Amino acid sequence: MKCLVFGTTGQLGIELAQRSPAGVELVALGRDVADLTDPAAIADAIARTDADVIMNAAAYTAVDRAESDEATAMAVNGAAPTAMARAAAARGLPFLHVSTDYVFDGTGSAPWPVDAPTGPLGAYGRSKLAGEQGIAAAGGQYAILRTSWVFSAHGNNFVKTMLRLGTERETLTIVGDQVGGPTAAADIADALYTMAAAFHRGTGRSGVYHFSGAPDVSWADFAREIFRQAGLAPAVTDIGTADYPTPARRPGNSRLDCRETQAVFGISRPDWRISLQAVLAELKA
Ligand code: NDP
Repeated sequence: MKCLVFGTTGQLGIELAQRSPAGVELVALGRDVADLTDPAAIADAIARTDADVIMNAAAYTAVDRAESDEATAMAVNGAAPTAMARAAAARGLPFLHVSTDYVFDGTGSAPWPVDAPTGPLGAYGRSKLAGEQGIAAAGGQYAILRTSWVFSAHGNNFVKTMLRLGTERETLTIVGDQVGGPTAAADIADALYTMAAAFHRGTGRSGVYHFSGAPDVSWADFAREIFRQAGLAPAVTDIGTADYPTPARRPGNSRLDCRETQAVFGISRPDWRISLQAVLAELKA
């Protein structure tokens, strides 16, 4: 199976490159050859590929910056995946894309089912939702994998921020009223390869799927586990979202109901605490 992947430098793009299973050939395109603000370049790459499956690991992920730059977020997260899905559909190729818990408004405390009404609180969520809608309307085979709280040894993420702050400070205040599933980029990469294989052998089913690490926790409790595993001991105090103002509003409830992903693809929620051990070991090495 040959996979054409958009995105080489992000958390997910790096893990897709590092974890391609035996029998999978990967062709990964970076910004230099496929800029996501240029839909024609994307369509051209897909029109010419001899790959069996198309995946998108690239996105505009700067949640706060998107509030003042929604046009770029919309181009990269809305128009580009839509162009990918249309070009893939024209070739009869399955398209796998990654989306986010930020398409939801974060109310309540129950895990969001895949068909729950969306209601993004900010520009990033709106742009990712536009991508989802464009893909679904493109008429081809697709899977949209919504995930949350992504971490890895690469790029900027909460784990790396906490490791830095945990060595710099003795006390930290961290948001305790946002709850979700931390998810290792490595686990998302593995899930995408499993889904790609299913589509390749004809057992995939188009739709929206959820995938996040278990158990669900608050950011404060995520931080406590990072510090425990890293042997750091700053005192962590929970604060409310209201006490930590950011340009973009964030959902309080990011729990994702992942049962559909298990039922259709046999992919279960990974224990993020085990994946965190691997990331900390990678950072140490
Ligand atoms: P990163 O921010 O680590 O990487 C983003 C990637 O997108 C980089 O390779 C970047 O390339 C590329 N990119 C951005 N703009 C363009 C552009 N105009 N043209 C070409 N490439 C571009 O993202 P993650 O790996 O963390 O995210 C993977 C997926 O998961 C995304 O779909 C994201 O929306 C989703 N997600 C992420 C979450 C998180 O916590 N990070 C949470 C929930 C979902 P370059 O290096 O050149 O800028």
